[in-house]
Order: sequence, then C-alpha cells, then structure tokens
Amino acid sequence: MVRFLTTVFLLLPLLSQAQRNFDDVEIKIHPVTQDIYMLEGAGGNIGVLVGEDGVLIVDTQYGPLSEKITAAIRTLSDGEIRYVANTHFHGDHSGGNKNFANAGAQIIAHENVRKRMSEEQKRPYGPATPAAPESARPILTYTDEFGLIFNNQRIMMIHVDDAHTDGDAFVYFPETDVLHLGDTYFQGRYPYIDLHSGGSIDGMINAANTALFLAGKNTKIIPGHGALSNADELQEYRDVLMHLRREVAAGIAAGKSLEDIQKMKPGAETDAGWGAAFIGPERIIKIIYDSLTAKS
Ligand SMILES: [Zn+2]
Repeated sequence: MVRFLTTVFLLLPLLSQAQRNFDDVEIKIHPVTQDIYMLEGAGGNIGVLVGEDGVLIVDTQYGPLSEKITAAIRTLSDGEIRYVANTHFHGDHSGGNKNFANAGAQIIAHENVRKRMSEEQKRPYGPATPAAPESARPILTYTDEFGLIFNNQRIMMIHVDDAHTDGDAFVYFPETDVLHLGDTYFQGRYPYIDLHSGGSIDGMINAANTALFLAGKNTKIIPGHGALSNADELQEYRDVLMHLRREVAAGIAAGKSLEDIQKMKPGAETDAGWGAAFIGPERIIKIIYDSLTAKS
C-alpha cells in the first residue's frame, strides 16, 4: 500500500495541483549542516539555508503546501525568506513560487525555467500545464552560472545541459559542502527524464559526472527525490544509468525493438530496488530507448 501511494504521488507532478489533496502531507525537517536543512513533504526536496541575512530556499514544492513549508522554516529561523532558487520548472518544485514571491522572495532560475513557466507546456500524455502567473516566474535568470553571497557564504547555481529538462541547475554551497542536484538525481530509484522538455539520458549521465566532479567524500547531496545522500550513492546511480544506457544502445545497434530490449531485462540486477519506488523497469528502458532514438 505504501509503495502504491508513493508511486501515485510521485507521478502526480504530471497532473494539475487541483486534483490533489495536500491535507495529510507533513513537512519533515532533516538537518544537513549547522545552517542548511532539507525539507521533505510532497514533491521535490527543499533545501533551506538560514542565517543573519535571512533565508534562501531551493525549490518550493506545490502551492497548497506553502503555509506548512513556511511554518516548518519558522521553526528554524525568524528571518525573511528572501530568495528562492529553482532547480527546474516542474510544478512539484516550483508550484509554491507565487506564494513565496508574494511574501517578498526573489526567484532565481535558469532562463529556460522562466521560458517554460511563461508558456503553456504540452506533453503527448496528460493534460497541458498552463503558463504560471508572472509573479511565479523567476526574475533573476542566467544561462550558465549564477553566484550569490548570502549569509556570509557563496551560493552557486550551475546549469547542466539537457539532463532532466533543458533548464536544470545544481545549487552548490561550496563552503559548507552541500550540493542540491534537483531532479538530475533521484536517490536510490530510476529517474524520470522529461524528454519533451529537453531532457536526455546522456544529459543525465553528464550531470551526474559533473556532480561527482564537484562532490568530495563528505559532501552532503540533496536529491530531487529520495533521502539525503552522498557521493558514493550518486556514483552508484551514475553507474546504473550508464549500464542501462549501454544495454539499450547495444540492443538498438543490433536492430532490436523496444519490446525485445525490455524482455531482455537489462536492469535485472537493480529492478527490484531501483524500479520499485517510482519509474518501473520497463518504463526506464522506454525512456532511455526514446532518448537514444529521438531525432534531434
Ligand atoms: Zn522534475
């Protein structure tokens, strides 16, 4: 039952917020360092930096959760919530933007996040996502990197190309050694890759390699979904993705169909664990197959 609920909830970013009931969602606070926390609720993990200048948060989950999220932050700091850094545009990470902006926060994100939030997003499956209101869109945008000095530390937003979407960014706190990877990293589970918004399997693997280049043994890694993590687990995730990509590519080169490749069970060693929480064994193979055979 728990597994069923998790699956349904995680797939709901593709559906509208109105179809969900958030009453039972509890915001859990996980300490990461002395001044950084990870909030778990529904949707993407939120990073929170507190200090004398105020509060910066990474992602905002769904709009109906903003009050609960704010209440959780208030147990950590009385400071003004001054910045929101979005890791990408998906509604389970940016749905609360409008509420935090209305309360005075400035929203920072890659320029493709603003672009996608400014237009209706259609997909070949599920309902279209309407354009977000102006107040929900990032007002501070960048193409490659964005730097901010806040609470006596440097915060870097680093764009990675065509990974989960075309507007992904890591949020890196080099002095406290914390790295929020957004949905380029699904901890312990097969990832969703939004091929219709510029994502690709090769971009996901490149993003993991970039993150592994930045991360050391002690780096605390906040994934888009899943538990607080580290470089060893990230490396395992990268290796799983590389293995699946290699198997699917070999199948394509041998002229096999998607169904044939799925039947070969390229993920046999990891399917039971990694394919149980969210994206199943057949679906991850389809995503990789579609990504490798997409015409650019
Ligand atoms: Zn996402």
